Amino acid sequence: MSDASPDPALFDKIVNLTKRRGFVFPSAEIYGGFRSTYDYGPVGVLMLRNVKDAWWRSMVQLRHDVVGLDAAILSPPAVWEASGHFANFTDPLVDCRNCKERFRLDKLDDPHTCPNCGEKDSFTEARQFNLMFKTHAGPVEGKGHEVFLRPETAQGIFLNFANVLQTSRKKPPFGIAQVGKSFRNEITPGNFVFRTREFEQMEMEYFVPPAEAAEWYQYWRQERFRWYLDLGIPESMLRLRDHEADELSHYSSGTADVEFLFPWGWDELEGIANRSDFDLSAHAEASGEKLDYFDPTTGERYRPHVIEPAAGATRTMMAFLMAAYDEEEVRGETRVVLRLHPRLAPYKVAVLPLSKKPELTGPALELLGQLQGRFMCDYDETQNIGKRYRRQDELGTPLCVTFDFDSVEDGAVTVRDRDSMEQERVPIDGLVDHLAARLDL
Ligand code: ATP
Repeated sequence: MSDASPDPALFDKIVNLTKRRGFVFPSAEIYGGFRSTYDYGPVGVLMLRNVKDAWWRSMVQLRHDVVGLDAAILSPPAVWEASGHFANFTDPLVDCRNCKERFRLDKLDDPHTCPNCGEKDSFTEARQFNLMFKTHAGPVEGKGHEVFLRPETAQGIFLNFANVLQTSRKKPPFGIAQVGKSFRNEITPGNFVFRTREFEQMEMEYFVPPAEAAEWYQYWRQERFRWYLDLGIPESMLRLRDHEADELSHYSSGTADVEFLFPWGWDELEGIANRSDFDLSAHAEASGEKLDYFDPTTGERYRPHVIEPAAGATRTMMAFLMAAYDEEEVRGETRVVLRLHPRLAPYKVAVLPLSKKPELTGPALELLGQLQGRFMCDYDETQNIGKRYRRQDELGTPLCVTFDFDSVEDGAVTVRDRDSMEQERVPIDGLVDHLAARLDL
């Protein structure tokens, strides 16, 4: 357990930096913005993709027992009837009679005081509010044409269980992983991209023989916790919190959250749940399909139990940014640097000609072309070199390659390290391998 304390000032620093440097923009800003909806800019789209790729690498690429899936976002009501989302995917909503603001009762610090106007006992009775977005398919509206935007990616996995089993040659224990957008009509979105109505999830359903469920649950708890540490979140900002018995859903025999120390305190990044055979049984019963596994070697038929690690990509990207943010004094000035793991950094390398003169920009662009085949690179020829290094520090670029007047003569460039700021002269011949070894992607 960590004894670190939250840093409230970090919140504004991250919101400002991400706007200023092109990570995240408020959506529809030229029309005054669209509350709690965000667009990912030129740098943000790279980093978000890197977060998802790092997850995919660890969950699919480096394993023999997990396959991928990309299921539809639109789905018919039958799915959500069977999954229990119509009945249970609700939050308790209260209105303040005084200021008319709405709140999620279970997220209020004090259920008797309105956090907006401060009025005491001004809340209405709580009513259950379903979080799913509803729309209609085709030209006719109304009953029979309703469709839903998925509020989680998991159900698409359960619906394809039999398809994947038949086509992939996997047998339990095996998993199906999916990354994609989910939509929830959150009552109180907020804290920047922490809680939004449109967000990205990274979920995996791991199907196991029932007797092995407890063991695999422990395995995935540890495995998922380690993923965040491996990508550079310090242990002091991360904890694994087991749910109390009264927090567990009725079908779950164990749930743990990976929590991060956000500027407002500990909050969830990911949930790992032992879901028993709840989902497959619900869909088997409602659809009439056999969602079982038949083991031809033993002749045994059973319904697998499921361990689900469910993470948020957009929320996790913010946590990686917060964990990486650092300020230090360098020659009387504050240097802001994102000490991002190279795998997460939007750009791995920035190519910087020392001057805008064509004798430097020509060969620098040629060098850029050589490096781009291997790494996501930035190129910048504006301002003095010191300012350009600082800009790359704020983007988290691990290595800068500077092409100067000597480079024309000696065929070497200066490689500058983001974290130590140390510079090294490296021959252009062999530069790609040199950079690859240092980045260790
Ligand atoms: P919460 O209790 O915060 O509403 P949850 O426990 O319902 O979240 P899950 O359904 O377990 O969340 O979703 C898995 C992950 O998806 C969460 O850990 C989080 O990272 C992400 N997530 C869920 N809702 C949102 C949202 N509204 N905005 C951004 N990310 C979200």
